[in-house]
Amino acid sequence: MIGEYSFLPCTPAGVMRLIESTGVDITGKQCVVIGRSNIVGKPQAMLLLQKNGTVTICHSKTKNLKEICLGADILVVAIGRAKFVTGDMIKEGAVVIDVGMDRDENGKLCGDVDFESAEKKAGYITPVPGGVGPMTIAMLMKNTLTAAKQQAGIE
Ligand code: NAP
Repeated sequence: MIGEYSFLPCTPAGVMRLIESTGVDITGKQCVVIGRSNIVGKPQAMLLLQKNGTVTICHSKTKNLKEICLGADILVVAIGRAKFVTGDMIKEGAVVIDVGMDRDENGKLCGDVDFESAEKKAGYITPVPGGVGPMTIAMLMKNTLTAAKQQAGIE
């Protein structure tokens, strides 16, 4: 919350790296995070705020979710419901980051975003699998390295 840390929560940190990789500057952008869990939604919103995004946090009691999503330049979805966010909820050219790890009706791994319809609208979009998951692991390794360096007195 105060922006001072050695270790970032892995999944939100991975999401930030993915957004940075697009070259889209977060400053002043409308950022919408769907989900307010302690491990994803809340820290995600704080990290976007630290990068000067204008952040809206949505959850299960949010009204007009579609309308809010349509205003998002950057949309991070962490709900836990298969293919919940569809293309008609996405602003043209938006950065869409899908944190969800769900199973579809055939038991196949999928995200919270309906990739097929969403990719037609998004400027950038992450797949599931192969998007946020591997980045979470990468950030865990980064934290592990930082911890090891700290213990060894290197950092
Ligand atoms: P969680 O603790 O269950 O939180 C889900 C959030 O989504 C809650 O804040 C909930 O709102 C909100 N929500 C539920 N239904 C909604 C709806 N219909 N409309 C709007 N918001 C709704 O889940 P989580 O731990 O944050 O994980 C979310 C997803 O990300 C899961 O699929 C999980 O497997 C995945 N995940 C992936 C990684 C990765 O490395 N790829 C890491 C962590 C999690 P309320 O607060 O009002 O209940």
